[in-house]
Order: sequence, then C-alpha cells, then structure tokens
Amino acid sequence: MKQTASTCCYCGVGCGVLIDHDGEKIHTVSGDPAHPANLGRLCSKGSTLHLTGDLAARAHYPELRLGKSLARARVDWDGALSHAAEVFARTIDEHGPDSVAFYISGQLLTEDYYSFNKLARTLIGTNNIDSNSRLCMSSAVVGYKRSLGADAPPCSYTDIEQSQCLLIAGSNMAWAHPVLFRRLEAAKAEQPDKRIIVIDPRRTDTCEIADLHLALRPGTDVALFHGLLHLLIEQRQIDHAFIAAHTDGFEALQSLVERYTPALVAAECGISEADLHLAASWIGDTQSFLSLWCMGLNQSSAGSAKNNALINLHLATGQIGKVGSGPFSLTGQPNAMGGRETGSLSNLLPGHRDAANPEHRREVAIYWGVDNLPEQPGLSAVDLFEAVRAGRIKALWVACTNPAQSMPNQQLIHEALATCPFVIVQEAFTTTETCSYADLLLPAASWGEKEGTVTNSERRISHVRPAIGAPGEARADWSIVCDFARRLERRLLPGRPSQFAFYSPAELFDEYKGLTRGRDLDYSGLSHALIDRLGPQQWPFNASTEQGTERLYTDGRFATANGRAQFIAEHLTELKETTDSDYPLLLNTGRLRDQWHGMSRTGTAAQLFGHVELAQLAMHPDDLAARDLQDGQLIRVSSRRGELVLPVLAEPAQRPGQVFLPMHWGDRFLKGLGCNVLTQNGYDPLSKQPELKQSGVQVTPVQLP
Ligand code: SF4
Repeated sequence: MKQTASTCCYCGVGCGVLIDHDGEKIHTVSGDPAHPANLGRLCSKGSTLHLTGDLAARAHYPELRLGKSLARARVDWDGALSHAAEVFARTIDEHGPDSVAFYISGQLLTEDYYSFNKLARTLIGTNNIDSNSRLCMSSAVVGYKRSLGADAPPCSYTDIEQSQCLLIAGSNMAWAHPVLFRRLEAAKAEQPDKRIIVIDPRRTDTCEIADLHLALRPGTDVALFHGLLHLLIEQRQIDHAFIAAHTDGFEALQSLVERYTPALVAAECGISEADLHLAASWIGDTQSFLSLWCMGLNQSSAGSAKNNALINLHLATGQIGKVGSGPFSLTGQPNAMGGRETGSLSNLLPGHRDAANPEHRREVAIYWGVDNLPEQPGLSAVDLFEAVRAGRIKALWVACTNPAQSMPNQQLIHEALATCPFVIVQEAFTTTETCSYADLLLPAASWGEKEGTVTNSERRISHVRPAIGAPGEARADWSIVCDFARRLERRLLPGRPSQFAFYSPAELFDEYKGLTRGRDLDYSGLSHALIDRLGPQQWPFNASTEQGTERLYTDGRFATANGRAQFIAEHLTELKETTDSDYPLLLNTGRLRDQWHGMSRTGTAAQLFGHVELAQLAMHPDDLAARDLQDGQLIRVSSRRGELVLPVLAEPAQRPGQVFLPMHWGDRFLKGLGCNVLTQNGYDPLSKQPELKQSGVQVTPVQLP
C-alpha cells in the first residue's frame, strides 16, 4: 500500500487528503494533518472520496456522432481531436472566431484553466470563454475589485479562530464548508465570548452557533449592511483615522446611509430594531471583526452591491488587514480561485487582468508572443447560452461542468444544447445531463488521477497529485486541450512553431506564473517542486519570498491605482423577480451537507444519501396548511418557466412565504430537469451572476389518478 498527499476535489476550503492506494485502486482517504486548511479534519464528502470511484459511471473512451439523430460511437483520440480541430477551423473560417465558445469549470486545475484560456484568446482569438464560477463567485470578484482594487480575499482561515466578532452572511457553512465550520465551533468552544452573527432568511444548521440570527427578508442585505453602518456612524464607532488615511468616497456613502434608519431597515428587512442595534454594537465594540459570506450574497441580481455594502463596514471600522479581521468570501468550488487568477471568466485575462483593458491585453499578448488579443467582449454564462440558442455560437466546448442541470432557466439551456451544431463535452462522468448533448465526448481524468494545482479560499495553492491511472483512455484535461490546440495550430497557422508544446502540468504552471509577476497576486516565485518542499503556500509569493502571505493590506495600502480603498455607495434595489398572486412563494435554492453539485460523483456513494435521501421542497407548516397539504405529499411546484413534481417537506425553519429546494437533483434523479427548471436567468448588471436564489413559485397538490 502507498500513500499520496493530495487535495479534496469538492469545496473551496481545499482540505489536504492522504490517499491510501495500491497504484490501481484507492482504498481509503484521510485528512492530512500537515495541510494548513484542515489540519487533519475531513467532512462527510471528503472522507468518502474513495467510495465514489464507480467505474460504470465514468467516460472511458472518446465517442463521436456525425449527426444529431445518430448514436455516438467509440473513436480513437487521434480521430476525435482531428475531427474537433477540423470542425473548429471550418467554423472559424466561415463564421469568425466569436462563433465558438468554451464553458469550463471551477473543478478544473489551474494548469487546465491556463491551457483553455491560451487556446481561446490566442489561437482562436475569442473572449468567449466563461466558467461555472460565473454562477458562484463573480459578484465577489466585482466586490473586491471595486472596493480594494484587486480580486484578493485578504484573510486567512486562522482569522476565524482569532476574530472576536464574526458575521456570516448568506452562507450555510455548517453544510457547505464543513471543515471551516468545525474550526469555528472549536474556537467558539474555547472562547465563548466570541460573538457570531448569522444573516440568512432560513434557520440553517449554521444558525445553531449564532449568538444572533438575523432572518432577513430575501434580497434586503444591502439595506441591512447600510443600517449597520448608519448605527456605527451614529454611535461614533467608525475609525475616522483609517478612513482619512486609507480610503476614498466615505462622504458619499455617509450621506447615502443617512436614510437607512433603524426603523426603515427593520421594516425593509423584517427584523427587529433591537436586533439591528445589538449587531451594530457588537461590530462597533470589537477589536477584530471578520465577515464570511457565500452564495446568499453572490447569487443575486444585486450581488455586487451586497458584496460592496459588506466590505464598506470593514473599511469604515478599519477592520481589515489586521489579525482576526477583514471581508472573507468563501469560495464554492475547489479551484474557483484558480479560475479567477488565470482569467477564466470572459471579462478577465490571466494575472488578475481585465479583457477590456487595452494595456492588460497588450501585456498578455507580448507574453504570449502574439500581435494582439481579441477586443470584442466575451459572453458570460447566461448570455453565452442565449447566443448558442440564437444560433450565433456554432461550436461549443463544455468541460468538467454540467450546464444542463446547473444553469438557471433550464428549458433555454436544453434548447441551446440541442440545437448547437457541434458540442464537445469533456467529462469524467457519462451520467451528467450535458453528456447526452455531446456530439463529441472526450473522457477526462478525475480526482485521484490527475496532477496540477488549486487555490483555496484563503489564497493557498496546493499541489494536487495523482494516485492511480485514469480508467480506459481518459486523459488529463490540460493534455486534451494542448493536443487539440496543436492540431488546430497546424490547420490555422501551418508552419508556426507550436505554442502548446506542453507535456506536463509543471511546464504549464511555469509558463503561466510569469503572467502573475508584478501583479497583486504575484506567485512567480512558486513552482510545483517548491510547493512540494515548503507545503501549500498563500499568494502573493514572488521570487524573493520565502513564505506565503497570510494577510493582505496590513500596511493600509490597497491594490487600487492610488493605494486607497474605495467606499461604494449604492442603494438597495428591488429583486429581479418578486412574488404575485400567481406565484406567491419565493423559492430559494441551495446545497445539502453530503452532496456536491449535480451528484455526478457524490451520487455514486450510497452512504451520502443517508443524510438526505431524496429531493423535497421545504415549506413552512403554515403554508402547507393554507393549501391543505400534508408533509410528504406529492406536489407540483411551478414558476414562470417550468414545473417539477416532488414531495413536500414540512419545515418549521422556513419562513412563511418562502420555500427551499436543494440544487443537486437533476433530470437523472428527478423527472423534470431539476430545480433550475424553475429558476430565472436575471443577473447582476456588473458581475453577470444569475439570481439563482429568488424566483416566484406556486405549489399545488398533484391529483393522483
Ligand atoms: Fe472537501 Fe470541503 Fe469537506 Fe474539506 S470541507 S473535505 S474540501 S468538501
């Protein structure tokens, strides 16, 4: 038996795992005591990774079909990639580079992301490359950049232990980031006077640790944060010296929050004035204030405003760049951060650059040895699939994600995938809904089989190592991309020396890291070998660094052009979709403790259904009674876009008027395309992140024959 140290492939906590294997099969997985993220702990998902290797669910060989009505047939890699390169070349010749698009994933490793990005932006010449991180963290990206000048979470997990006052907003971290929650629980047990405020419309398991739960009306977070700032100003609990020395824009914000009086905020948010005063006094009195947030803020048509309103509180109190303090977004996916770093959203470029910035395009073009990069803005996820449905995208490459389940307004996504002339799906599992739309299925290596790096929520880069080989002919994602790119190069630019002559992930990392040099995230001093020697490291880590950076902005200098943080003054806006007499209930969607995304992996382990066995719509007993429904009864839940039939669950933790549905069950488990058949694709105007958590629905009984 051998042991390989690697990293869990699920959430953004990025726990270190020790894989016990015999070179052919993974036998057990345990927490790595040496990994700073988890110090040996694992949650139910991480500790059962070895039980999720169901080979029957895996893609083993490339498969191709030459007509939509035909079945896919096995083909060799040479045939698969040559065909793909020819279709892409022909499409680009006939319709231009923006007629092709890539939709990739926060599950990919940094080296995979980099190869996709270089392919799209240089060889093809399109910015049409977006990622499922658009559904996850893009509002946090905008929030950090607008306030602090760079997409850089400034804190470390150790701040969770060291903070005296924590505010957890829109995050059920007890289920979604369980190992961090265990760290918080342990710290609270040691320091009972640590104050914890949880802001969430639902009474989740995370609320069990709260000293104060603010069950706000959905979508009113901006008013709540402004109300807290109003009170902090009124009670002279802001840090004027910090504001004067390190920030801009406070006067405008001060004037804006004047109208967010406790009475107005209490009424708007559906909370008591006393609770608002209590929360403000805890934040104002503490020596260290940390805020943690996730999808409840991000997945919203006001996601950017929510992020910035929360960051405002830290800037106004000077609670940033200090031990136990700062605004700290929790990333959903294992390498959503790596995607942001490599520029894997359509509006970004590698090294925290912007595709719309001519100077940034010039820097990257010089580094890549091309004349220029495309100026035409790329499409973000929702717009990208609308362009596919409208026929403007003729060739789509989906990698390591399942938009046929995870994107909002599913009917539109399925229409788009069904009509797109050429769809490549690069996947480890054949069971995802998106695979059924693949004209070309490319089998990808999965966790335990592939190598590269990931960055977790605290900017820590870990080396992901393989323990066993991939099944059949499955290959590493970066290797598939580079092989394809070399073929496309020969077709489009015959005779040019290849820019994709990479034969290991370490080579890709070494080229990519040069694009971080001199940028806020600079990790040009790192390499796979150095991570092996020093252990996982937090960026920035430049060539003269000997250790990673635990905390950012400790000198009060921010990543903006003038070094000063910027207050953002924006009012509360209405939800994109509200309730009415036809759809009187507000649907919230979210995660369960023991499942991950569309269950392609967790759905293969029977014990992970022990916690929650089936999809149920959680509803307050009063709402059930009003409809003469019983707990467990089969109901039809319908929105303006579609409907689902499933059992209802009486759940007193729900607020009346609001229902909750887990996002994990798709068409495979639940007839009717899963929860996103109901959700809307309205999105935040800045981050383009869809409002996955707020859709109007109606619930009616199903009449059995
Ligand atoms: Fe994996 Fe996240 Fe659980 Fe850690 S907390 S074991 S990273 S799923």
